Amino acid sequence: MSTSELIDLRSDTVTRPSEGMRRAMYEAEVGDDVFGDDPTVNRLQAVLADRLGYEAGLFMPSGTQSNLTALMTHCQRGDEYIVGQEAHTYRYEGGGAAVLGSIQPQPIENAADGSLPLAQIAAAIKPDDPHFPRTRLLALENTIGGKVVPLAYCAEATALAHARGLATHLDGARYFNAAVVLGGDERRAAAGFDSVSICLSKGLGAPVGSVLLGSRDFIERAKRPRKMLGGGMRQAGILAAAGLYALEHNVARLADDHANAQRLADGLRSIDALKVDGPYTNMLFVTVPADRVAALGTFLRERGILTLARSPTLRLVTHLDVDAAAIDRAIAAFRQFFSGRG
Ligand SMILES: *Cc1c(COP(=O)(O)O)cnc(C)c1O
Repeated sequence: MSTSELIDLRSDTVTRPSEGMRRAMYEAEVGDDVFGDDPTVNRLQAVLADRLGYEAGLFMPSGTQSNLTALMTHCQRGDEYIVGQEAHTYRYEGGGAAVLGSIQPQPIENAADGSLPLAQIAAAIKPDDPHFPRTRLLALENTIGGKVVPLAYCAEATALAHARGLATHLDGARYFNAAVVLGGDERRAAAGFDSVSICLSKGLGAPVGSVLLGSRDFIERAKRPRKMLGGGMRQAGILAAAGLYALEHNVARLADDHANAQRLADGLRSIDALKVDGPYTNMLFVTVPADRVAALGTFLRERGILTLARSPTLRLVTHLDVDAAAIDRAIAAFRQFFSGRG
């Protein structure tokens, strides 16, 4: 089956660079970015910083590296950061803050809307006493599990952190999904955060790349941990060109992914055997009877539909390589399976 016939709902990281994006990469002007000489990387960093209202940006190969670079710039050895149990930096990045940064995570249970209750943040901030690590940073994530964290909450949480002398970081891997839902004002969701990490390789459709944003001084200091973590790339403009193309062409269209997630959720809700949670921006969560998960995964795969079926709850993610017709095909395949004709 050719890749164009595949309906890959495992993640929004699976998109392939389009013709136009590949042309932009081919034509990119490049230099050695470790020397700060790559004009395309410099342009990407400046464009994104300006759009979100930051002084400077730093291009990196991955969101994991960008988040860890941010943590290691905000925190020193023996410091602590407050983070959600469900947060990517805490749960899905190999424990890098502790392993490589000697930064102790202080996890807090996420509320249903993705937020961290303010009283629990306040209670987790340690007094200045040699018994305790130094609490240095509050890290939030938006979107989280596809959910747009309420901006009024972000304003309160970041104000609390700043009042207690903590810095604030936002893991905005899917920042633009939130921005589109919030009516397209791209600065609003970043308000109150000293740094933000943005992924270009998720819904924006670039093959590689993340950008860390912050003050000029913060970004200058971030260059050392980035280098230490192996993120000093050379003629990286080839990759940055894809990011610039994505920012120009693939932001507003995220609304299509959200509409397709809604279409998929509506279709799957009509199947009695399924319990559908969502959609939240471009994601939904579908719980399948436990004894049918494996068979469903195989049935769908045979029809060119890929899902991540590690547990009875599937996470389905829409993106720019899945259109409404593909969503309808996916719904039909689910229906066929559960009608017993599969
Ligand atoms: C994907 C993701 C990251 C990490 O990005 P990679 O480029 O895969 O390392 C960080 N945070 C969140 C919320 C993500 O979804």
